[in-house]
Amino acid sequence: MKHWSIKLKIIILYTFFFALLILLDFYLLKTAATKILNDQATRQIIVVVDEVSPTLQIEDDAVYVEGLDDDSDSLFSFDHDGVNFFVYQNNQVAFGNAISGFDSTDPIQLNVVHTYAANGLSWLVYDVSLPGGYVLRGLYDMSFITTSFQDIIWIAGAISPIIILLSAIGGYFIIKKSFQPIKRIYQTASQIEEEEDFTKRIPLDESKDEVHELALMVNQMLDKVEQSITREKQFSSNVSHELRTPLAVMQAQAEYMLVRAKTNSSKEEINTIINQISFMENIVTQLLEITRTKQISTSDMELIDVYDLILMTGDALSPQLEKKDIHLDIIKPNFSTKIRSNQTMMIRVFSNLITNAIKYNVENGSIEISFQAKNNDLIIDVKDTGIGISKEKIDKIFDPFYRADESRTQTDSLGLGLSLVREVVRIHGGEITVSSEEHVGTTFRVRLPLEK
Ligand code: ADP
Repeated sequence: MKHWSIKLKIIILYTFFFALLILLDFYLLKTAATKILNDQATRQIIVVVDEVSPTLQIEDDAVYVEGLDDDSDSLFSFDHDGVNFFVYQNNQVAFGNAISGFDSTDPIQLNVVHTYAANGLSWLVYDVSLPGGYVLRGLYDMSFITTSFQDIIWIAGAISPIIILLSAIGGYFIIKKSFQPIKRIYQTASQIEEEEDFTKRIPLDESKDEVHELALMVNQMLDKVEQSITREKQFSSNVSHELRTPLAVMQAQAEYMLVRAKTNSSKEEINTIINQISFMENIVTQLLEITRTKQISTSDMELIDVYDLILMTGDALSPQLEKKDIHLDIIKPNFSTKIRSNQTMMIRVFSNLITNAIKYNVENGSIEISFQAKNNDLIIDVKDTGIGISKEKIDKIFDPFYRADESRTQTDSLGLGLSLVREVVRIHGGEITVSSEEHVGTTFRVRLPLEK
């Protein structure tokens, strides 16, 4: 039950209690109705017996009922207004017809109504005395009450599951509707989590209930989170920007000092400073690019052909390819590779991936770029025959400033390229994954949504 949804838990509990209420309702109804019918039958038997007894005349071999005048006596029928009669003498039936199931030796109890029950049948019994030592016994058949109740229980038994089912279905829809706003909160939260897009908000409707208050609260919290993210972006953008000018001045000054340097050792020292300055400039440029990337919005996107863009990027990198004698094979797809994207940023993605595939490749190695279209996504594989990445390091390569090969010089490798690539791909609603085998090669797989 721990892992069940709240909706399911409420429906089960609600249906269970509803079924319990129906059972309780039956029980109370049956008890009350039995009592009412019993009281009514008791009154009826007393009235009928008391009405009949003074009118009876018992002669040697028969019982008569007195008429209005003395000459109109008639034979008593032993069955009157739903009551059956016996006339007893000396505790034995003297007159009356046997009634199946009733034991006529049931002891006489004068002037009180008692119950006689046997084999699922029951009667109310009422005895009064008649002149001449006779006793008149009235019997009122109560079996019909039991039978009627059995019928009612059968009908109720058949109807109840339908009522319970209907109430569960009705309850499900009511609960589903009540939980709709909570679902919206969940959906927005998971979208934010997936896309890391803090501009998203929970859609609010007209209602002013507790869930609405909660959604409002979450939206206000998101406003604060978004503001602080924007401030943080703005801060790093400002810092990077501010650092550029002093770095450029330092670079120019150092170059000027180099020209004027007299000894080889001072030239060497100044060169080290120049190298470090260009390394810092590199970092600042890339950081600025990352912050700018984070600020790309969907309005900065246009329709571009990824295949054409990769061809162009490959061309631009041909000097580096030639330098290491690496063969680049871009396999032409037979479907459209158009996506909605920011062109400059997309060039950065593939330029970074191809540059890495060259940088970490072997001399005379090769790079193959292939395309697939799957479920409205464009999949681009950039596969190289390079040094590969070890299993321990592969999870970290997208982290900023991470370099798997620490022996590389910082100016050559900053460890910022892949974090920028991942950010751009994420902004475009896609994802990047990597698979690699050491000394065999690495494949980066980029998935981007195709333009419909
Ligand atoms: P950089 O290449 O500037 O160091 P990246 O962020 O582009 O920074 O890459 C991070 C690290 O991932 C690299 O330092 C390298 O160790 C590893 N890497 C990236 N691409 C490849 C590749 N194609 N083959 C082997 N290792 C790679």
